[in-house]
Amino acid sequence: MSTRENNLYIGIILEGAKIRTALIDSTGNVLLEQTDPTSQRKTEELTSQLIELIQTFKQRAPQYGQLVAAGVGVPGLINLKTHKIEVLPNLPQISTTTLCDDIMQATGMQVIFDNDANLGAYGEWQCGVAQGYQNVIYVTIGTGIGSGIILDGQMWRGTTGFAGELGHTTINVDGIECACGNIGCLETVASGPNIVRRMQQRLYRDRTSSLTRFFMPRDREMTHEDIVQAAISGDELAQVVFERTGHYLGIALGGLINLLNPEMVIFGGSIMAVGNILLKPIIAETKQRAFGPCFDNCQIVAAQLGPLSGVIGAAILARDSFK
Ligand SMILES: [Zn+2]
Repeated sequence: MSTRENNLYIGIILEGAKIRTALIDSTGNVLLEQTDPTSQRKTEELTSQLIELIQTFKQRAPQYGQLVAAGVGVPGLINLKTHKIEVLPNLPQISTTTLCDDIMQATGMQVIFDNDANLGAYGEWQCGVAQGYQNVIYVTIGTGIGSGIILDGQMWRGTTGFAGELGHTTINVDGIECACGNIGCLETVASGPNIVRRMQQRLYRDRTSSLTRFFMPRDREMTHEDIVQAAISGDELAQVVFERTGHYLGIALGGLINLLNPEMVIFGGSIMAVGNILLKPIIAETKQRAFGPCFDNCQIVAAQLGPLSGVIGAAILARDSFK
């Protein structure tokens, strides 16, 4: 029997340091899920890792249903006309010219590539908090900051597919250089690695934080997950860093809300595990910056699917692309 209800899809999101993979049914339920560290040193290693993941899930799929296609999200610019990944700002050592073709050839599967934030938006729109809405912006905050935009009930991709690069909005004209080459992008203050950088700067001046332990010799560096956990556990300095991060995000969001007048903005990605500690200052700053009527008509919420928005969106876009 091969009904649509029986159809399965693989969703994969390349999250910078991690790859998240899930097996998903045609209504967005997650049947299997795993997270692995990314092989990011060489293109060949990343290609074989993606092929291996698809093969592994392909072998495990038959007990659940019929596997149809896979969707892969990458943190970069994908050209809609050529289907090539053109820029991966946070994985500059990876050349992606033949990534999609190589994976389809090796696995014999239909595979669609898209920007990770677009897929997060698609997931929340089809299966999460934005179901039934027409004008929605999804913002993902992790290793980078991206956004996916839905306008008038359609994904807004721009002329060549590059729309939504909110993380590369200039937020500080005198700021530091961004991975994209510009100066003072939102990402240079509010992405995971830059939250770590700002936390480290504060720790030099203030040793009361629980994260001061990272100045002792250790087997690893501080990560943004450590700061998220510290903030949740009540560490005041970590909370101050997120409050400031919310201030930067709110500055960018105020402009975006004035520009597009959306009915909902969703925040997702690994940093959003910190929840209201970040969401509240984002909302407060946005209220200061946006036109009142634009702000009043826009719900600003956390992703309902949490860290799974992207993999679910990847699978569901594969469902809708290969009917
Ligand atoms: Zn940038």
